[in-house]
Amino acid sequence: MEIYKENQLKIYNSLSKSKELFKPLTEGRVGMYVCGPTVYSNVHLGNVRTFMSFDMVFRYFLHLGYKVRYVRNITDAGHLENDADEGEDRIAKKARLEHIEPMEVVQRYTVDFHKTLEKYNFLPPSIEPTATGHIVEQIEMIKEILEKGLAYEVNGSVYFDVLKYNESAHYGILSGRKMEDAIHNTRALDGQSDKKNPQDFALWKKAEERHIMRWTSPWSDGFPGWHLECSVMSTKYLGEQFDIHGGGMDLKFPHHECEIAQSQTCSGKTPVNYWMHANMLLLNSQKMAKSTGNYILPNEILTGENPILSKAFAPSVVRFFNLQAHYRSVLDFSNDALEASEKGYYKLIDAVNSLDVIATSATSTFDVTAWKKQCYSAMNDDFNTPVLIAHLFEAVKIINQLKEQKTTLTATDLEDFKNTIHAFVFDVMGLTNETKQESSNALDGVVELLIKLRKEARDNKDWALSDQIRDELLVLGIQLKDGREGTSFSMN
Ligand code: AMP
Ligand code: ZN
Repeated sequence: MEIYKENQLKIYNSLSKSKELFKPLTEGRVGMYVCGPTVYSNVHLGNVRTFMSFDMVFRYFLHLGYKVRYVRNITDAGHLENDADEGEDRIAKKARLEHIEPMEVVQRYTVDFHKTLEKYNFLPPSIEPTATGHIVEQIEMIKEILEKGLAYEVNGSVYFDVLKYNESAHYGILSGRKMEDAIHNTRALDGQSDKKNPQDFALWKKAEERHIMRWTSPWSDGFPGWHLECSVMSTKYLGEQFDIHGGGMDLKFPHHECEIAQSQTCSGKTPVNYWMHANMLLLNSQKMAKSTGNYILPNEILTGENPILSKAFAPSVVRFFNLQAHYRSVLDFSNDALEASEKGYYKLIDAVNSLDVIATSATSTFDVTAWKKQCYSAMNDDFNTPVLIAHLFEAVKIINQLKEQKTTLTATDLEDFKNTIHAFVFDVMGLTNETKQESSNALDGVVELLIKLRKEARDNKDWALSDQIRDELLVLGIQLKDGREGTSFSMN
């Protein structure tokens, strides 16, 4: 259903730094590009948060009835160790250290990325293009920028001329940086660089002898600059101008700034209408990042295998935890916060599951239409999931009142209430109906104890239970009753 027609969605545009009414370029269709991972290691939970924010955005557009082309790339070449065009290629470095082919690194971590996102119930994007699959197009774009006079070649490498671009455009339009500041704040060239100015960035780099990821080009055997792939692939699949471009906040500068400069140079048009930036996940009050060792892996959450965790958590608990914060707010990860989210998540799911047993009535004493409107208003206000969740908890209260018949709904209203809750919980937020982990943990404990019990009895040839086992059973809520026939137990 095309319910987008009756919803006025506002999106915070990082370009204008304000919330704007969303108007797609083509009625009923959305083109969205999100920068994907560099597949040189496993994604950490921070990366997952950003991708989850855009999964929620994708899901809401689909729910509103838009036809969405969602492009999320895989960076499998060209991303150097440091963002200033220096250092080794991240993938090539990993391949060198592990004595494997770069494409083995790419394959391993692309598969891992997909498996992780599947576990966390992500919808796959419409297209997932790779940088190495678009080398020809990248070379073509470099030729175009050279023809426009905004790039120059030195010793087989090609650089974008930022100062020249800035004469007729604004380099810094997205990040709010002034050119003078950029000049002032960029490290001076060390005399070995081929760049004319330190703020210029590489479009093509000539490969040093040991650099194994290389392709033939008119300038040298080399590889494309990191920023180029996103300009090329977004233009190829979404056009010279498209609706939404997303990524983490930390990509605003230089990555997205450089993307704008490249794309705009070629087409003469503003490439993106709405720039969306998701905020960072923190751990120990610091940005979660592989480079600093301050991170937790998405798989560790599911197994509980990390010293900061008290136990394993279900993927939907992590989703709930993420969506309890607005995508533009920073979010602090901790075991306590996850435990609190777990309680909230099961409270919500238990209520949703009890919707089927509610009896209907001749009259309604709760205004479903008004409540539903509030849910949409929350999402239409720049995807405000924390406010949506607050409205869903109001629904939990109503469900409990319905069960006790303190509130009543007609069959039509109950159907509408149920469908709306299901749509927001499962389709938009992407939560799944998980079985409670506590109960399965308790059962695991019982099985373990029963094994211990049998062993004790066998070893001691005595069926009396040790006090220690009695205590452990009590912790699991199992009461032992000794009688003449032996020991029986009850569980609460
Ligand atoms: P990368 O593979 O490093 O390019 O990162 C993939 C995505 O994760 C990018 O959109 C980054 O902005 C995002 N990202 C990196 N670190 C974090 C973090 N701590 N919290 C949220 N998003 C992050
Ligand atoms: Zn990108």
